[in-house]
Amino acid sequence: MTEVAKGADATTDDLLLRLRNFQSDYFPLHQQRFQDLVADGQHPKTLFVGCSDSRLVPYLLTGAGPGELFIVRNVGALVPPYDGTYGLHGTTAAIEYAVLTLHVERIIVCGHSHCGAIRVAYDGAPAEAVALQAWLKLAEEALLPVQSCPEALRRTEQRVVVLQLERLMAYPMVRREVEAGRLTLHGWHYVIEHGEVHIFDVQQGRFVPASEASNSGTGPYAPYVEHDGQVFSY
Ligand SMILES: [Zn+2]
Repeated sequence: MTEVAKGADATTDDLLLRLRNFQSDYFPLHQQRFQDLVADGQHPKTLFVGCSDSRLVPYLLTGAGPGELFIVRNVGALVPPYDGTYGLHGTTAAIEYAVLTLHVERIIVCGHSHCGAIRVAYDGAPAEAVALQAWLKLAEEALLPVQSCPEALRRTEQRVVVLQLERLMAYPMVRREVEAGRLTLHGWHYVIEHGEVHIFDVQQGRFVPASEASNSGTGPYAPYVEHDGQVFSY
């Protein structure tokens, strides 16, 4: 590639420019940290299971930096059942790796408001999206027998988080570590428009805004019963 061509790329390809800016502007400020993480390896204490939604930014929410979050994201922040019923799963592999190899101390499952996955679970996916249709069956148990109104969607987003926590407890290595007191589970629902995470409180059986919560959430998780008992009364 000629110098002229390289120059042309940098002025017309914004993404290329951003890659160059990362190395020239950000990297020098944190170079030692990155190099330590290479020399010492990564030792993240948190597995973050989050929805793929572009508005959910785990590092911003948690104030984390390089080396601090082991992240797996998928449509809906869903956890496949441990029995492998649904075939090959990167999410399952990530959970096994985080718990058995990295020995993380906490697992966060983070859903969010206005989640497209939950809406599609109610309204249906395009016929061609066969993998998406199969995947969203992992949320099916949490759906309410109602039309997809905003209130039902919000409740469902939260119910789906709790369902995934229950499913996590069916992973033998997760249950073992939780029962040994070495691993805690955290169910979060991020309300994008308020900038606030609501935390599932297993004792109260409901989601509590972070501004009022006494902790960032811990398990194990009994089957979810909403505090007002209205979930199944539509
Ligand atoms: Zn989502």
